Amino acid sequence: MPGKSKNLCLQEGMAVQYTTLKVRLYPSPEQAELFEKTFGCCRYLWNQMLSDQERFYEETGTHFIPTPAKYKTGAPFLKEVDNQALIQEHNRLAQAFRLFFKNPDAFRHPKFKRKKDSRDSFTACNHVFESGPTIYTTKDGVRMTKAGIVPAKFHRRPQAWWKLKRVTVTKTRTGNFYCCILYECPVKKPESVIPTEKTAIGLKYSMAHFYAADNGSMAGAPHWLRQSQEKLAKLQRQLNRMQRGSKNYRETVRKYRLLHEHIANQRRDFVHKEARRIANAWDAVCVRDGSLEELSRYAAGGNLRDSGYGMFRECLRVKLERQGKPFILVDRYAPVTRTCSACGTEQEAAGGRKDSWRCPKCGAMHQREINAAKNIKAWGLARYFQLQERRDSA
Ligand SMILES: [Zn+2]
Repeated sequence: MPGKSKNLCLQEGMAVQYTTLKVRLYPSPEQAELFEKTFGCCRYLWNQMLSDQERFYEETGTHFIPTPAKYKTGAPFLKEVDNQALIQEHNRLAQAFRLFFKNPDAFRHPKFKRKKDSRDSFTACNHVFESGPTIYTTKDGVRMTKAGIVPAKFHRRPQAWWKLKRVTVTKTRTGNFYCCILYECPVKKPESVIPTEKTAIGLKYSMAHFYAADNGSMAGAPHWLRQSQEKLAKLQRQLNRMQRGSKNYRETVRKYRLLHEHIANQRRDFVHKEARRIANAWDAVCVRDGSLEELSRYAAGGNLRDSGYGMFRECLRVKLERQGKPFILVDRYAPVTRTCSACGTEQEAAGGRKDSWRCPKCGAMHQREINAAKNIKAWGLARYFQLQERRDSA
């Protein structure tokens, strides 16, 4: 998520929020062809820049990524697509390297993109000239450079005072086009909420339950999500038995992809609702800091395949921030699972992977994940108040 707001003059008491609208695009055959070309050009450029970077690094030991302009003579087809999309690809690769050089343990080295396992997508920034912006929305379309007005269906309308920053066009595996439009929206700064032990909650990621809270509650993936996943597994088994390339096989692949998309949508819905519920019910949320892993997968250009917990945490952060509530991170190496939340004794191992264990020192019985959530909350709050104190005395 972008944290930049340098070109926005803010009035006193105002803050910047980012909002994304996702709209379905209905491009004409020519526009669809242009999008396909743009996806291909972005992938081509990424791979070219990456291989040149690698060669240059090997030869000279210095890091350097040539700009998109350098490739246009040798690959004139790059001139046919939106130059902004190419510039974004350069920025993305540069960012992936910045993260990798800064922290090679947490971030993967950027890798080459292959058509079959990278997303069909491109991003373009909006530029406002005297003649007007390069990207804007109309009543029933999105105007883009090169493509012109692409018909679109809006579920929500942008407000007049929002500033369109950039668009990301993607094509799903089932052949549908979507556009995520990012807006910068000035809003009134919310009053800061000071949490107490009673109004704060600690959450621990859980494989089985999505999360476990310090008060013993658990989310549990909803029934229908599990049902869809079972269906998905069944289709997968059918595919394994089928003759590759046969008519039935292709039909089942299509079903499989549709269901896959459906699950992704269901999951996103679930994540947003759950985050909304928690952000409204509590004044502060403590979680373990694990953002590095997810970021690294994203930055390396790989596919992000996860339970949605990273998305959940990001949703929570945004929703809390908007209400002036703290989102508190606990060091991801903190031994939350093997410390007894009752007496603070740290075990060598908290009964391995067992669901429950008894503290040998004080005798307290612990449910593994709830105990961890209790520690996350206690340590998170302690750190939060410590920081507050330091700020007050400074
Ligand atoms: Zn104990």
